[in-house]
Amino acid sequence: MSFQVFGIPVSRGVAIGRAVLVASSRLDVAHYFINEADIEAEIARCLRARDEVARELSALKVDLPEDAPHELAALLDVHLMLLHDEALTGATKQWIVDRHYNAEWALSAQLEVLARQFDEMEDDYLRERKADLEQVVERILDALAAESGKTPRGAASVTQRDFAGEDPLLLVAADIAPADMLQFKRSVFHGFITDIGGKTSHTAIVARSLDIPAVVGTREASRLIRQDDWVIIDGDSGLVIVDPSPIVLEEYRFRQRQSELERARLARLRHTPAVTMDGERIELHANIELPTDAEAAVVAGATGVGLFRSEFLFMNRDGELPSEDEQFEAYKAAVEAMRGMPVTIRTVDIGADKPLDRMSANELRHEHVLNPAMGLRAIRWSLAEPSMFRQQLRAIYRASAFGKIRLLIPMVAHLAEVRQILESIKRVQQQLNDAGHAYTKVELGVMIEIPAAAVMLPLLLKHVDFVSIGTNDLIQYTLAIDRADEAVAHLYDPWHPAVLQLIASSIAQARAAGKSVSVCGEMAGDPAFTDLLLSMGLRSFSMHPAQIPSVKQRILRADSAKLAGALPAILASEDPQETARLALSTGGQAAVRTFH
Ligand code: PEP
Ligand code: MG
Repeated sequence: MSFQVFGIPVSRGVAIGRAVLVASSRLDVAHYFINEADIEAEIARCLRARDEVARELSALKVDLPEDAPHELAALLDVHLMLLHDEALTGATKQWIVDRHYNAEWALSAQLEVLARQFDEMEDDYLRERKADLEQVVERILDALAAESGKTPRGAASVTQRDFAGEDPLLLVAADIAPADMLQFKRSVFHGFITDIGGKTSHTAIVARSLDIPAVVGTREASRLIRQDDWVIIDGDSGLVIVDPSPIVLEEYRFRQRQSELERARLARLRHTPAVTMDGERIELHANIELPTDAEAAVVAGATGVGLFRSEFLFMNRDGELPSEDEQFEAYKAAVEAMRGMPVTIRTVDIGADKPLDRMSANELRHEHVLNPAMGLRAIRWSLAEPSMFRQQLRAIYRASAFGKIRLLIPMVAHLAEVRQILESIKRVQQQLNDAGHAYTKVELGVMIEIPAAAVMLPLLLKHVDFVSIGTNDLIQYTLAIDRADEAVAHLYDPWHPAVLQLIASSIAQARAAGKSVSVCGEMAGDPAFTDLLLSMGLRSFSMHPAQIPSVKQRILRADSAKLAGALPAILASEDPQETARLALSTGGQAAVRTFH
């Protein structure tokens, strides 16, 4: 039966495919397609792991002390029985044969199917056996990991494979941590649906950087959608249609083709300089998570990297941080890939909804860090770990010998922080001199993400070379709305007068001080805000590479002088969005250029 689920649209476009349900806790098992020729070997690998667990459990049973509670032996019997149940092993085999899933993926897919059946059981005793089933599957997964050693859980694991005849797959999960999302780069999934999250949660941001349709904050999609259901994701409206009728399916296939055509049309703007109709040149930079993303930035026509979220280099490493040399290689790779264009590297912004890995996410919870968004994140964490911070600074400075690098500091709120940063830079430069490492001038910038920084900007500007406005956090902290919490997503409002005042005054003050200013939050990549930001005097935008063409199209049609004239009315308005709609629509469209 067809039904719909509503959520928050976070990444545009239409995706149609079969649902793959993955429990959050199992997102870090390896997910990859195997070759036809390897099916038998994969089944054998799975059965070997099962037999290994059976041996372990039988040995445990034999070794049970005499005074062990009788229930313990009975429990081991239940586990042994589940282990050999056809509903687990037989069906797991089927996932491997039919869908070419690797053993770990097949096992967790089947676990999802069975867990739902257990959830629906009337009998309490039987329902509680779900936990036993989960333990058994965990044991098999551990045995598989121990056997292979090559594809550890948590390693980048979802790979794209040309699998003729395979239906597109859409990932459905209660939640996906940013670190897990990162693993899905170049993945097999054509879309994402989660129960949790807001428009600028980091999970949504990474989904957007993948440029595939995604809907978050659906609250219960992962409970309602079943493994293998046909699903449509409408990433423009936030609608998820499960088991669509043929007519609806046809309609969405048509829309999918239309949006592909539109993308192809916009891609032709790649080499067109971003200049407004009245001749203002605009920098369109890219936001990247990994050095390998730089290539996509160049392809999309970015004229630099405006935000390299370096924290993604620190994730999925089981708590071990990347060494100075490893970081240096990563920054150098990004700089070289940008071929002389500037690369703005932001120092680590760990914390809040971006834990280092799942373990530290759990630690955060257990240590009762009540409000991680306001806790030890970003520069606060870096300054609390000075040797880690200096290590990152050294790596960044060393990479500056290979191209133009700018250093960006997240979450600054105090002048004392800036002074500490400048001290650290001085010390790092001395260390590099002593060690004979080459480096060049690196401009220092701070992010304007905390209202305090926006309000005291003239003071900050005396010490830094540039600023970058992080609207995602600036909105979160100005309005006291957790950006990752779907329950308050409706209050997360970029059009709020207080938000607009802070952005407009930051841009104006930076320009008045002769310092460069850009916006690197999600507002910069949304064409709905392009005219507004131009009207505020913004001349440098940073966004996901995939967003560059549509923002560029807006710029090419804009008249910045006319737009600037509309700003006072918008800022004074009780309903800025409506005022902007009226005022800005006359600000640029006088004559529309053609690009073909
Ligand atoms: C922001 O806050 O707007 C920003 C760009 O940083 P992040 O989204 O990584 O917090
Ligand atoms: Mg931020």
